[in-house]
Amino acid sequence: MYQYKRSSELFDASKKYIPGGVNSPVRAFNSVGGTPVFFEKASGSVMTDVDGNDYIDYIGSWGPMILGHAHRPIIDAIKIAVDHSTSFGAPTELEYKIAELISSMAPNVDMVRMVNSGTEACMSAIRVARGYTKRDKFIKFVGCYHGHSDSFLIKAGSGASTFGEPNSPGVTAGTAKDTLTAEYNDLDGVKRLIEDNPNEIAAIIIEPVAGNMGCVLPNMDFLKGIRQLCTDHGILLIFDEVMTGFRLAPGGAQEFLGIDADLVTYGKVIGGGMPVGAYGGRREIMEIVSPVGPVYQAGTLSGNPIAMTAGYTLLRELNDNPNIYQELSKKTVYLKEGLEKVLSESGFSYRINSIGSMISIFFTDVDVVDFNSAATANNDKFPQFFHEMLKRGIYLPPSSFESYFLSNSLTYEQLDKTINACRESLDAMK
Ligand SMILES: *Cc1c(COP(=O)(O)O)cnc(C)c1O
Repeated sequence: MYQYKRSSELFDASKKYIPGGVNSPVRAFNSVGGTPVFFEKASGSVMTDVDGNDYIDYIGSWGPMILGHAHRPIIDAIKIAVDHSTSFGAPTELEYKIAELISSMAPNVDMVRMVNSGTEACMSAIRVARGYTKRDKFIKFVGCYHGHSDSFLIKAGSGASTFGEPNSPGVTAGTAKDTLTAEYNDLDGVKRLIEDNPNEIAAIIIEPVAGNMGCVLPNMDFLKGIRQLCTDHGILLIFDEVMTGFRLAPGGAQEFLGIDADLVTYGKVIGGGMPVGAYGGRREIMEIVSPVGPVYQAGTLSGNPIAMTAGYTLLRELNDNPNIYQELSKKTVYLKEGLEKVLSESGFSYRINSIGSMISIFFTDVDVVDFNSAATANNDKFPQFFHEMLKRGIYLPPSSFESYFLSNSLTYEQLDKTINACRESLDAMK
């Protein structure tokens, strides 16, 4: 039986000095209850907590650990890099090399700018789109997450209003009025917003595969329709590939789905576990960024040599061994089929959404295609399932609104163990 004594002590101690005891809200286990697990180390797909318990990891640090924790080539490269100084605040050869590599992996990304998080990447991409189009408004989709900068923390306005409303205290109504929201997979809703705001919309930003309301797949007619609307109306299409970039394919969702965006944002995988984000796109758009153009954006630690070393080492390996993506996809299908089998025998209502190496179980009886349908799975089943799995050494995302991210370090034995744990967990929930 797992004991969480040390985790409990550390959580109590942390709550004294850190809001909620954590540096990012989902880690607090608020939506599943119980004590967050504090970790000490990890290797491959196994994480070890401060009480000595081992878990098979399905979060992978929310994506970056696509080849497993403490991946030898990344650790070895970082060890060499730190001896050369942890930061210069001046250009290095590696920044050019990683930009060139990204551009070769995502061919419509002519130029790229490194930042320190996905939040920064999305915030900057919107600024660039506004500067380029000389328009103020943009459209986002309910249930998509683009980081925590003000203009994204907006919910749909009430009644007939097409204006958004702040979703968090501290976000002003002035900011909210320029963010328009539509439902995921609803092309008509997007058309209406464009008609109601002629020549005012700078960008449409979207997760091309959504991962922040659980894994939700795009309808291809919807995505193609958005691409066409953007082209027809001089709107820039921004793919937020912070989750999907370098995960679904070397060229991310753009390659996987065969649709080109005008601007792309990256994070997570791109840093190999270090804090990195990036945004990029066609040359004529990116050349409005300072110091070439007038749109200001900067970062003291951007392109940090340790972070670039980790990211470059990981991206190189993904680029050089594209069979990694086939292996990952096979493992995900194997897991999905195993879970399908035990879930269908359990009597619980469920849906599984999955693509590439992303997968989510929803305890619901409706197809999950947008935020409202995803929210039907935000029920008491999920916290029970989460804790039953945790007790059996399976570490799932602690929210029904998160996707699992598989790592290629997962073995078929570990996948079998997970499927068995799922069977036992469902039995225990009856
Ligand atoms: C995680 C995420 C972000 C935010 O990235 P941070 O590095 O946490 O700031 C933005 N967009 C998407 C799609 C994400 O999944």
